[in-house]
Amino acid sequence: MKLKDKTLVFFVSIMALLVVVLTVLSAFSFRRFSLYTAERHALSVAETVKVGLTESMINGTIDKRQQFLSRLSTVPGVQQVRVVRGQAVIDQFGPGLSQETLSLNHVDAVLGNGKDYFEVVETEDAFFFRAVIPYVANDHGVPNCLQCHAVPPDTVLGAVMIDIPLNEVRSQGIIAVVLVSLAVIAAALLSLILLRRMLNPLSETAQAVHQVTARAVDGDFSGRIQQHSTDEVGDIADNINHLLEFLEREISTIRSRVGQLLGHQSRDGRNQLTLTTEMVDSLVEASQFKQAIEEDQTKQEIYLRLIEMLQNKYFIRRFSVYEVLEGKNKIIPINISGDIGADCRYCDPQITIDASACRARRTGHEVNAVGYPGLCTMFRPEAEGDSHICLPIIQSGSAGCIVQLVVSAEQAPFASMALPFVAVYLREAGPVLEAKRLMEHLRESALRDAMTGLYNRRFLEEYVGTLVAGSQRRKAPFAVLMLDLDFFKQVNDTHGHEAGDKVIKMLADLLQRNVRSSDMAVRYGGEEFLIVLLDTTVDAAMKVAEKIRSDVEATKIPLSSTMLQKTISIGVAEYPNDSDTFWQVVKFADVALYQAKSTGRNRVVRFSAEMWDADAHY
Ligand code: GH3
Ligand code: MG
Ligand code: MG
Repeated sequence: MKLKDKTLVFFVSIMALLVVVLTVLSAFSFRRFSLYTAERHALSVAETVKVGLTESMINGTIDKRQQFLSRLSTVPGVQQVRVVRGQAVIDQFGPGLSQETLSLNHVDAVLGNGKDYFEVVETEDAFFFRAVIPYVANDHGVPNCLQCHAVPPDTVLGAVMIDIPLNEVRSQGIIAVVLVSLAVIAAALLSLILLRRMLNPLSETAQAVHQVTARAVDGDFSGRIQQHSTDEVGDIADNINHLLEFLEREISTIRSRVGQLLGHQSRDGRNQLTLTTEMVDSLVEASQFKQAIEEDQTKQEIYLRLIEMLQNKYFIRRFSVYEVLEGKNKIIPINISGDIGADCRYCDPQITIDASACRARRTGHEVNAVGYPGLCTMFRPEAEGDSHICLPIIQSGSAGCIVQLVVSAEQAPFASMALPFVAVYLREAGPVLEAKRLMEHLRESALRDAMTGLYNRRFLEEYVGTLVAGSQRRKAPFAVLMLDLDFFKQVNDTHGHEAGDKVIKMLADLLQRNVRSSDMAVRYGGEEFLIVLLDTTVDAAMKVAEKIRSDVEATKIPLSSTMLQKTISIGVAEYPNDSDTFWQVVKFADVALYQAKSTGRNRVVRFSAEMWDADAHY
């Protein structure tokens, strides 16, 4: 219930109660006063009758007493006066006039007990006050009763019955009570009008405060309160207006600044305050995200964080993360809806071999096909109504990665809302991914031989710990092959250094083809190579070595002027059978290689303990 209505109900209730109480009280008081006056009036009339009758007795006109009484009955305020004889008087003087005998209960009672009797008689056609007052004989005064009446003192001689009309009094009383009530009602109405006039500004201000604050809670601070008065209520309106102006200005500034940081401005129609809070939250989270990915070691960890964000924060279940291969027009799927390294699911696989077919990769812009089906011809929807939004992660000015969100028609509005926030994460990830890519590239090139693409010696040094620990853990041996081309110097000398390089590169390719991807081919020196065959016994390693040897022998290397054929010598040793120290095993493989060289070259020699002469200088 509103304040205005509440005060109205309260005030009207109080006033109604007041009117009722005052009406009842004034009616009651008026009645009491009227009866008291009638009683006094009746006693006066009775006394007048007594005096009149006594005078008539003295003057000898007692026979004319009825005339006196009849005249008395015409006096205004008196309706009827009758005298009734008591038994003692009847006994002494006879029954008297006919009017002097009256058989009424209350008259008999008064004649019997000598006490005054009063009553209000109200019938259909009569309304009057009746008093029956006894005449009691006494012996004092001159003349006194006992001079004529032969009765003892205190005998009831008779009674006077007086009827006093009340109609007029009642009418006056009603008028008075009505006037009092009207006066109270008029006063109440006047007070109510004044009170309402006083309450109006308060009530209107309260209502306006309610409205503008409700709008403010919905993020709309444009409401203002009209100032109705210059008192405290007016001050409240004024202060709230200032507060709203301040909030409107500041929040709009915050919103636009945050919008600038996020790279998009909030849309209309939603609670601006909640939206701004969400935007600030996203900024904070994006900043935390950036800090986290900067501390990550690999690109893969960053991709996993991005995927976690998509799945857990924005509940996007279907997505693709693609990486563009540097310097090649190719794209590889990194993660498809949580499956690491899965094949393309929502795109034509064509994009993997021709990256420019991917619209987001080609343009470097967001490709939002919600509402524009067919925007990218490479999209392959899973179900009818599926749409996609592809967001590039810009690295070095072009799309280095592409994040594709796949949404159904129902999910599309939510995805569109989440899009600016997801874009912030991707924007943060861009430079970090680029840095990680560069780092990986640098690291990769530091550990590889530029000419052959094989690992270099530094890599071997770094990798030894992992290699040995893995072998021990798996309780699996590994073999080390040392390889050296035979009479290589001749190639340089005869065909030139470039031809020599070509031979080395061809040999490197051959070695790479002959080992598994888990094995390791290292360019150990100029034309010396080292191969580690994982989980391989020396017998198996001998076979691989033999295969390499025969392949080299059979390979014809085309040079500008001629075809060249070379041979290779290989020494083989095994970890941990030959030694449980890696570098010692390498040494032993080298000893075996030396043995191969000294026993005619173009052969594979397995290390044996007899070959090892600790004192010899290899
Ligand atoms: P051997 O059968 O005893 O091994 O005879 P060899 O002539 O091969 O002798 P050695 O292995 O000692 O010769 C190594 C030569 O390989 C020395 C060097 O001129 C040449 N060489 C080393 N690295 C390179 C390179 O990167 N390119 C070229 N063209 N030649 C290289
Ligand atoms: Mg050599
Ligand atoms: Mg050599």
